[in-house]
Amino acid sequence: MSSAKKNIKTYNGFVPTIGLEIHCRLNTATKLFCNCPNSYGDTPNSNVCPVCLGLPGALPRLNKIAVEKAMLFAFAVGGHAAEKSEFSRKQYFYPDLPKGYQVTQFEYPYCLGGMLSVNSGLSVELERVHIEEDAGKNIHLDDASAVDLNRAGSPLIEIVTKPQIHSPEDAAAAFRFVYEVVRAIGICDGNLEEGSLRCDLNVSLAKEGAAKLGTRTEVKNLNSFRNLEKACNYEIMRHVDTLLAGETIVQQTVGFDAATGKTFTQRLKEDSDDYRYFPEPDLHLLNISDEWKAEVRATLPMLPHEIERELVEVDGVSAEYAGILKDKTNLYVLYRECHQSTEPRLSRSSLPELAKWICTDIQKLSGHEGSEGSGNSWKSSGICEVILQIDTGKISGRAAKKVLARMWDTGKPPLQIIEEEGLIKQADTSFIAKIVSEVFESEPQAVSDFLAGNQKSFGFLMGESMKRGRGSLDPQVLREVLQKELDTRKDVI
Ligand SMILES: [Zn+2]
Repeated sequence: MSSAKKNIKTYNGFVPTIGLEIHCRLNTATKLFCNCPNSYGDTPNSNVCPVCLGLPGALPRLNKIAVEKAMLFAFAVGGHAAEKSEFSRKQYFYPDLPKGYQVTQFEYPYCLGGMLSVNSGLSVELERVHIEEDAGKNIHLDDASAVDLNRAGSPLIEIVTKPQIHSPEDAAAAFRFVYEVVRAIGICDGNLEEGSLRCDLNVSLAKEGAAKLGTRTEVKNLNSFRNLEKACNYEIMRHVDTLLAGETIVQQTVGFDAATGKTFTQRLKEDSDDYRYFPEPDLHLLNISDEWKAEVRATLPMLPHEIERELVEVDGVSAEYAGILKDKTNLYVLYRECHQSTEPRLSRSSLPELAKWICTDIQKLSGHEGSEGSGNSWKSSGICEVILQIDTGKISGRAAKKVLARMWDTGKPPLQIIEEEGLIKQADTSFIAKIVSEVFESEPQAVSDFLAGNQKSFGFLMGESMKRGRGSLDPQVLREVLQKELDTRKDVI
């Protein structure tokens, strides 16, 4: 179900069609088929055993937690977990693949259906999601190559979209959506630099309005949103130039060099038949029962785009602040804690104000993202108190900034700070009238200027009164008192 609002870009009369294949490394404690630690950065070849080294006679055992994490992704994108799925051997020779084949899912993947609901204008259907093991890593030195097999056998899911994307921007947005989802449901650390999430994209061009897609090329291993967009742009332009020159596109796999911003040929594409897939004889069919599905589904948390929608539609938070809260988990957690605080309790109408303060002053006070781990309770009740004081008109926004900053510094409760610093908005008319008459005495020129018709003097007298009242005067009441006192003088004249 693709929406009409998505970006369809044309390049010299050609429309690009893009599909993504995203590899996501699951953050399980152990590998997919053995008990070796699934961890990054250890001494090379220290996390290996006969199973992940592919030694003769070693038998794989499927990691249940990996399957549950994979299922969670299926549910998060609205896909369904197949009752039965199958692991197969994908045969190819490469130094980082000790068994000479990779165990993956081919004919019967565990997840079918589902879509990436990237934003209101862009939904991309999924072709399939399957579970597979990662390969090791080749390290190329000056005069030799080495191989580290710590990563061999790590659990991955491969998420394959249908070719329903038509611009580099949308391709990057779809990748980012997956990044947000896998982090929100806690199945992947999302570390792009370490390759926990990497994206291949395939692109083909067709004449505008033509039904048949052109020959496609595949860009491998993109590990940032920006590189994905750049590589996609470059590859589209390369296709356009080739086609305009009357040449044909060669089906191939290319790499992307971030330093030059260009793609380069890696290998000509082999057909999938070359892999000689056959069912993995050492593993049973994967059976996912309804009970198991229900158990896993019950652990599915709210997703970022659902959070954003709820903030805007239910809580009335502005789109700008909802976007910030969606992205910054620590701020969102604080927001919800304030929302759920019982003493003091905020009314629903205060929530937009709460979101505003959390996304502005409180974000600054909290420092950079991630610095707030635990112990928010004094903050949430303090923040609620400050919002209540603003809402009931007891303190001004300016005073609230001061209170929050003092609260963060000292940990004192806001009511105490307000009292100590004399920050209560002064709305007592006789008190304000006294200050106004003092100002009239010290600024007779401004008073006569106003009476002679100079409206600007009013602002000056307001400012002087505020200063004398140390910023605590209720501006609305001050304005009324000032006007009244000046009117009285007018009558005298
Ligand atoms: Zn192992």
